[in-house]
Amino acid sequence: MMGSRIRREKLTINRMIALYQQRCPQANQQPGHYAALNAYADKRLDKCVFGEEKPACKQCPVHCYQPAKREEMKQIMRWAGPRMLWRHPILTVLHLIDDRRAVPELPEKYRPKK
Ligand code: SF4
Repeated sequence: MMGSRIRREKLTINRMIALYQQRCPQANQQPGHYAALNAYADKRLDKCVFGEEKPACKQCPVHCYQPAKREEMKQIMRWAGPRMLWRHPILTVLHLIDDRRAVPELPEKYRPKK
């Protein structure tokens, strides 16, 4: 079952992608492009090995995104991040707090065998 941390992260990503799509002059104009990217990000969150203890994705040692998608999300976050504060202040502040969280240890089943 999805907990509040994952739910909130999905909402934050959804709002950032929407802002980028609607306002950024460099946004991709292909229909469905951002819906697909958002669905991809949701799926990564559903399968996140850290679950509710997840660190910010940019601090994560696993990097579960495909490289091209990771780059695109970084670009979206760089553009939308500073603009989010005015539109979604609570989500933004919580996201900034998440960014400062220590990265937890990987759950045992994902740790490399010694
Ligand atoms: S990048 Fe790391 S924290 Fe983000 S969803 Fe993937 S495994 Fe979880």
